[in-house]
Parts: sequence; structure tokens; C-alpha cells
Amino acid sequence: MKITFWGTRGSIASPGQETVIYGGNTTCLEITLPSGRTVVIDAGTGIRKLGDALLKRDAPLDLHLLMTHVHWDHLMGMPFFGPLFHPDCRITLDGWSKGFDGLKAVFIGKHVDGTWPIGFDAINARVEPRQRLTGGELRLDGITITSHPLQHPQGGLGFRFSQDSGTFVFLTDNELMDDGWRGCCFPDFVRFCRGADVLVHDCQYLPEEMDTRRGWGHSDVSSVARLAVEAEVGKLVLFHHDPWRTDQAVTDMEARCKMMVEELGAHMEVQAAREGTTLTV
Ligand SMILES: [Zn+2]
Ligand SMILES: [Zn+2]
Repeated sequence: MKITFWGTRGSIASPGQETVIYGGNTTCLEITLPSGRTVVIDAGTGIRKLGDALLKRDAPLDLHLLMTHVHWDHLMGMPFFGPLFHPDCRITLDGWSKGFDGLKAVFIGKHVDGTWPIGFDAINARVEPRQRLTGGELRLDGITITSHPLQHPQGGLGFRFSQDSGTFVFLTDNELMDDGWRGCCFPDFVRFCRGADVLVHDCQYLPEEMDTRRGWGHSDVSSVARLAVEAEVGKLVLFHHDPWRTDQAVTDMEARCKMMVEELGAHMEVQAAREGTTLTV
């Protein structure tokens, strides 16, 4: 599997000179399966450039889109996703149960005076909602994808991609805590992440920032380091960077996380997700 980061930022797109290294676009990942099939996770602002790239490739536009949840930063790129307007494009929508409603709501926009000028009926692609990942699993070309509920306001889903040669876990917008308020707690996430070759996890905050942000549905670097160590993952990737976190501050957080992992007695690769880069699992 190849994992490409098209958007790594949390909460709101944050372009500018201080976010050049790690990127300013919000959540969007492209997972290329060994079969060549494309699975997209979330439709944050990063999906715009992914759409451009997909349209340039000489490959069928038969895509899976997995939604973690429908907060704006994971949805607002959708109207700019070029393949949506291509008549030969088919998008199988899975993941969070409200994904299809969220997608339509971006276009319909009945709030106040409407939030978008183009209606959902302007889409040429076939969008087919499925619910395989709501409490179940999705098998795609030899890959098994399972889900786990997120500790996040209004809920959401994280995903685990498993194949014989490696495992990748994606958990964003997830507040790790010992006594979870959505019926799952820290050991549940350890089980879900157990032995993953790559864990990409929400790491929006520093421990000293949490007092005023508890309940917002995001994790601090010390909890994420502890999860990665207890789950014995191969590589930890810090994700959903806070919009106010400059490149230097993200680099500092990455260094701090490496120290925390070492203090916990583990040796693993730690890196902060960078927009435009690709990992292979
Ligand atoms: Zn988010
Ligand atoms: Zn969210």
C-alpha cells in the first residue's frame, strides 16, 4: 500500500509561509492498494489537488471514499474534487454513516441563504453510498479494512487497513483518554492499533494545552506516544496539526515525541505528517 498525504492540517486550512513544510490543507489521504485501486480518506481541502492528479492519470476513476466524520475540515474540499464532475467517475462512499448526508449538505446548503452556488444534481459522477464499515469490515482487492469509533464530538470512525505484508491504522479527530466518554477507552485503541506497521494519529495539542481543550476531540503528543508504544507500532506519524502550529513548532513537537517514546523504552520511527509525501506499507 502507498499512503499519500494531500492534507495534514486540522480544523481549518492554514496556508502561509509558516506552514510550507508540513502543509496547510485539511485532511485528505490517498491510499493506493497493490491492485492499483485508489481509496481516498476524507474530503478536506487537500482533495482538490488529489482530484487534479487523478484526472491527469490514465486510470479508471473507480474510487472508494471513506469518511471519518463530517466536520467541515474533512468535507469542505468536496465541491472542488474534479472527478465528481466527470461522467465516467464512480465513487463508492463508505465509512461514517452520515458521510452521504454530509456530502449532499455541502451542495444543498440550506443554512441561512445557502452556502454553495452549485447543487448536488450538478455532479456527473455516480456516488454510491454503502455502510460496510459501520460495525463491519470492507474487503477490497485482498485488503481488509475495519473500523473503530472515535472519541470525538458527534462521533466518527477510524480505519485499519490489513494485508499480508503490512498494516496501516488511521485515527484522526480522536481524543485519547483513560475513561472515554463514547464507550471506548485507551486499551480499546491499543487493541485496534496493535502491531501496526504505520499508525497515523491525531496529535493536535501539547500536554500543557489540554486543560483548556479537553472534550474537543483531539489528542496531545504524550497520549499519542503512549498509545504507539503500548500498541508496539512500527512507525508513528503525527497528524491533524493545529492551524496555529508553525513549521518550527511541528518540528519541535516531533522531536519531543521522539524523546517521549525513548523515555518509554521503545525504539520506533516518529515523524510529523508532511503534505505531498508518500509512505509505503
Ligand atoms: Zn478535523
Ligand atoms: Zn472533527
